Amino acid sequence: MIIGLTGGIGSGKSAASRVFESLGIGCVDADVVARDVVAKGSPALSAIAERFGSDILTTKGQLNRASLRERIFTSNEDKTWLEALLHPLIREQILAQLKQQPPPYSVLVAPLLFENGLEALCDETVLIDVPESVQRQRVTQRDSVNADQVQRIIDSQMGRADKQARATHYIENTGTLAQLETAILALHHHFVAKNAQ
Ligand code: ADP
Repeated sequence: MIIGLTGGIGSGKSAASRVFESLGIGCVDADVVARDVVAKGSPALSAIAERFGSDILTTKGQLNRASLRERIFTSNEDKTWLEALLHPLIREQILAQLKQQPPPYSVLVAPLLFENGLEALCDETVLIDVPESVQRQRVTQRDSVNADQVQRIIDSQMGRADKQARATHYIENTGTLAQLETAILALHHHFVAKNAQ
């Protein structure tokens, strides 16, 4: 059984996935997989350098993400090409890593679970949700960014109401970390029971 764990930036996905991990549940992070498929020396990075030229790489031979973002921002054709290259690879890797996790279920952590159609890989989904003001406050405390930068990322993600409508389970993470832990533990029992059916 695969559980999708999602939520906007700063909603508490990482905090929630740490709770699942403390319960012995394997978590696969879609963002980490997305970075790994274009790691230095990967076939996908070679294909990208072939299409966009070697100035898409840093002097250390890694992907220059800012350059690539700029290129796909200005060309829909390049964006479509890149997505056609990367999305199947990312999915394949995610599935391979999920398969390696122990039973009874594993968790796919993805901020853009719904935006990228990754919920199709999942049996059930969990939305971790907080108001935007809490997202701004927690992210500015966590990272060296300002509230405007956080807001731009929030605006680029699917709205909360849409995500709430799609998710199987909903956790409001406005309380303490201990309350988040209790909510995840209840879900864990639900998933274990469901898997045993
Ligand atoms: P995400 O992975 O969704 O971006 P995080 O799990 O990193 O979000 O949470 C954002 C920040 O808020 C982190 O610094 C985290 O420790 C903190 N945080 C998460 N949940 C709570 C909570 N219930 N109470 C207080 N701080 C929290």
